[in-house]
Amino acid sequence: MGWVLQLVDTRTENRAPSVDVMEISRPNDLRDIASLGLTLPEAKQLLARVQQAVVAAQARDYAGLRPECAACGGRCHVKDWRPHQIATLFGGVTVRLRRFLCSGCGRSETTTSWPSHCRSTPELDQLQAHLSALMPYRVAAGVLEHLLPVEAGTSPETLRGRTLNVGEHLRNAAPITSTAAAPAIALSLDSTFIRSCHDGERHQEVRIGNVETLNGGRQVFGAVARTETDITVLIRRNLETLGRTSNTELTAFTDGCPGLRSILTDAGVTSLPILDWFHIAMRLQHAKQAAEVLSTDEPGRVQAKTVIVAEVERLRWRIWNGKAKGARLTIERIRKVMHVFKGERRRRTGTAPSRKLWHALHAVDAYLSSQSAWLVNYAERHRAGLRVGTSVTEGTANFLVNRRMAKSQQMRWSRRGADLLLQVRAAVYNGTLGSGFGKLFEPMSRPHPTLAEAA
Ligand SMILES: [Zn+2]
Repeated sequence: MGWVLQLVDTRTENRAPSVDVMEISRPNDLRDIASLGLTLPEAKQLLARVQQAVVAAQARDYAGLRPECAACGGRCHVKDWRPHQIATLFGGVTVRLRRFLCSGCGRSETTTSWPSHCRSTPELDQLQAHLSALMPYRVAAGVLEHLLPVEAGTSPETLRGRTLNVGEHLRNAAPITSTAAAPAIALSLDSTFIRSCHDGERHQEVRIGNVETLNGGRQVFGAVARTETDITVLIRRNLETLGRTSNTELTAFTDGCPGLRSILTDAGVTSLPILDWFHIAMRLQHAKQAAEVLSTDEPGRVQAKTVIVAEVERLRWRIWNGKAKGARLTIERIRKVMHVFKGERRRRTGTAPSRKLWHALHAVDAYLSSQSAWLVNYAERHRAGLRVGTSVTEGTANFLVNRRMAKSQQMRWSRRGADLLLQVRAAVYNGTLGSGFGKLFEPMSRPHPTLAEAA
């Protein structure tokens, strides 16, 4: 079977002749399922040809326009034609546009407001940035090349360049001001590290923030330290986006790093930041996991393990209820039964669970003792319907930074590259990159579903 795909101008006046776009032929023998419908190469070719034809028609039509001089209002005459090679989602196109000169004052005029050195459509830039925010540049380039007729500009370097451009625009964009005032906002500030490609520097610090309202509004943001992106500006901007007013009750959470506390102060967040329950729970989880895999190969160990698991759980309960400023007591109680695990066999990870448990408990103790001023009665807050930390269950740092930028150990980042990519990633999660892509996470309506069991 065969068809000719035609583009027909639908206007009644100035109707242009119809254009044959492409001949399609498919077998009429359907014994093989592979013969059904168009193939991907055909679809790509079809998109590319339709794009060429549509652009050609648009350019032809537009060439009839003549601008008026913006300075003196005089008549303009054609100076020359300029070809513009533009990469689009559906292939590269060449558009010839006229440049004009005012016959009165000699001023140059054009009929487009395209950015200078424009090489691609915003839609292509945004899709490339969107994919690059989620996967390595090389993989993103491969996906695009596989699915769409984008032969121009699919190199990872091009994608990187365009993505960082988009990131720069996002960073410099004016804040989106909220129409509704938020009675309460929870702000959590956190930090993580990524590998650095700069000489004499192994890691770079990344600060990540998350702001949430009670009715499920949420924004995430981040900045690499020592870049042009000012984290305090981002904090202010995101609070504004969620509808902060002078009456908003603002609660701040941090992981306890003093640097983050001073950033909060610089951003005008004056209320005392609370130690985020998420970070405590994560450290307790390490102790709990180690306790749960303690050996039970001897009767004495079975008994001791029961005691230890209960003690770790009690420690969690005491911290949750604001009754513990450290883990000393737990460590002392566990020490009494710990001797039965002497000579415990190592696991595949290379460490015996009892050793791991000991490490984890001391880590909890060191953490809590240094942060005791910022501990609160989490149970009481929770019962009152108040937040006890970020509601992102895996932690904002993990999904915003680590999933894309720290998973692969080989990846080393330039300060600017990581920072601008982070701006794009945040926009993807916030649903503010272009239109029609949507948010990557659902706004949460229940403040802390996973914490009910902790209480
Ligand atoms: Zn003029």
